[in-house]
Amino acid sequence: MIFAPFKNVFLCAALAALLSACVNGGGSTPFGGAATRRPPTAAAEAMTSALGDAINSAWADSNPDTRGQKREQGFWVYQNTTTGNYGSRRFPTEGSSRHSMRPGFPPAVAGYKVVAFFHTHPNTEAEGYVPNVASPSDLEYSKELGRRLGMGNLPGIFKSHDGVFYFNF
Ligand SMILES: [Zn+2]
Repeated sequence: MIFAPFKNVFLCAALAALLSACVNGGGSTPFGGAATRRPPTAAAEAMTSALGDAINSAWADSNPDTRGQKREQGFWVYQNTTTGNYGSRRFPTEGSSRHSMRPGFPPAVAGYKVVAFFHTHPNTEAEGYVPNVASPSDLEYSKELGRRLGMGNLPGIFKSHDGVFYFNF
């Protein structure tokens, strides 16, 4: 697989206390952008349903209930250009932490195009995080990867302890 990591573009949780450690210039508000709890489009609903197992697997691998063992996980959402079926490829975990990942550029998959990305927010407000918004880095990744794929902002999905959230659909 070929990855072309972005420079200075990564996913990162919005931290209430340590925000400056994770902001890299994106986002228009201190804590990123609003995300909705309900699938905002039919496509969002369809991919969530089709990728339920992948979402649950990534969430479980985040160790969301084990303090000291939490680690963000994620994947790109692919869609078959002929059948419309959805598939996924996990993000590389190299360089990831409890609140950040560096997914880089998605590998090409014959017959498929990248239509969205998913990642986990395993940290809680009690731990000093703002888990239910798209962080500035999430928005920057959406914007930059979408640009490189020749489209608008790439739709994003994330899961926190409070459920599944959507942004930029
Ligand atoms: Zn995030």
